[in-house]
Amino acid sequence: MKTLYTRIILIYILTFIISLVAAVVTVSYLVDKKYSREQENLMLEQGQSFIQLYKSVPDKELLKSTYNGFLESLYLRIQLYDGTGDIQVFGSQRKEITKISDEIVQSVKQGDVYKSEKDIFGYMTVGLPFTVDGEPHAVFVYIDDGGMTKDLYKILNIGLFVAIMLGALLILVVSRYIVHPLTKMTDVTKKLAKGQFDVQLHSKRKDEIGTLSRSIDAMAKDLSRLEEMRRNFISDVSHEVQTPLTSIRGFSKALKREGLSEMERIEFSEVIEQESERLSRLCRNLLSLASLESDQHPFDPTSYALDEQIRGLILKTEPQWLEKELELEIKLPKATIEADRDLLYQVWMNLLQNSIKYNHQGGKIRIWLRPKGERVQVGVEDTGPGIADEDQRHIFDRFYRADSSRTEKTSHGIGLSIVKRIVDIHQGDIHVDSQIGSGSRFVITLPLRQKR
Ligand code: ADP
Repeated sequence: MKTLYTRIILIYILTFIISLVAAVVTVSYLVDKKYSREQENLMLEQGQSFIQLYKSVPDKELLKSTYNGFLESLYLRIQLYDGTGDIQVFGSQRKEITKISDEIVQSVKQGDVYKSEKDIFGYMTVGLPFTVDGEPHAVFVYIDDGGMTKDLYKILNIGLFVAIMLGALLILVVSRYIVHPLTKMTDVTKKLAKGQFDVQLHSKRKDEIGTLSRSIDAMAKDLSRLEEMRRNFISDVSHEVQTPLTSIRGFSKALKREGLSEMERIEFSEVIEQESERLSRLCRNLLSLASLESDQHPFDPTSYALDEQIRGLILKTEPQWLEKELELEIKLPKATIEADRDLLYQVWMNLLQNSIKYNHQGGKIRIWLRPKGERVQVGVEDTGPGIADEDQRHIFDRFYRADSSRTEKTSHGIGLSIVKRIVDIHQGDIHVDSQIGSGSRFVITLPLRQKR
């Protein structure tokens, strides 16, 4: 009873019955209002004129032969009960007599005018009394259309029955068409809930159900991709945690050895320090991303000099770009921005470090800033290996690393997702422009003022 299928059918049948009842009631009310009084008057009139004719024409056979045709044309029949208990029928050729109870015949003979209730076709019978030579007679007028109305009703009933059955059959087929994809979708979503993401509905429908199916397909694909990324990420992180830990363990053991020179001791401790720093950076990044994505991250915009912030960062990373012998081209005109200083710091740091990390030895980095009306654009360009089109679409996704960087030791695939998230929080936009072999250009556009 609770399935959509049975509900649709029930609703259809209910609607059909309600409309049918409403139509029948309205039609019979209107017909009744218009014709019933006329019908009664016509029958009484015909009864009266028959009585007069009957009294004035002595030859009853002549009366019958002339009068029958006229009555028939009015669909009327007259039944006469005379004093002897004889019954004569005027009107149609048919001989059979319509049963009228003795009680009624007697009461009419005694002088009452009789009007019957209407039958289901809206027809009635009237009875009139009269006397011939002191003998009480009763004349009954009723409608006889030779079964025409009955046949019409029969045809109408068959029509209705066929309509209901055909409608029910159609609804049965149509609702299957509606309900079936829903059942399929339920199956698929159940599978998704269980973590089985390789499911697709492949619906070709153009209606709302088709749209919903396609959304579910897209969701399944996204979930599947996320799941794969999560799995890869876990294995990558485990690997990345494992490598520094192994080296920390190794060098700690080495430190315990006797007879180490001062130089060796310092060298070993430095390795331990660097590896710990790497681990801690990974943790920091992961925590930062989790917090930024939770929408609970504090956002504290203040007005400050953007150009100075970027210049400071270039200085800070000097050892790294000097080591790679990179040439820097810097164009930073004065610009004041209202933004969260600490968050933007992470943005420039990530972009700058990527442009150093992925650059060739002796390559070039160009950093520029350009005010544009209410906004400001910052560009970081490098002469590194570039990013393939396919990768460009995903580099801002969490944990995504282009193939070229799989071997890069310090790569976690988190930096750019943090950058993207921070730019989004500032209602800004990030764009990458790159080709394999000819470097990359990252351009960030930020509003100078934050909407409140
Ligand atoms: P990470 O650098 O830690 O791997 P990111 O999120 O910063 O993570 O970068 C995602 C991926 O985008 C990197 O793995 C790398 O393949 C690619 N990428 C980012 N910046 C550059 C760049 N300047 N040149 C070439 N590839 C880049």
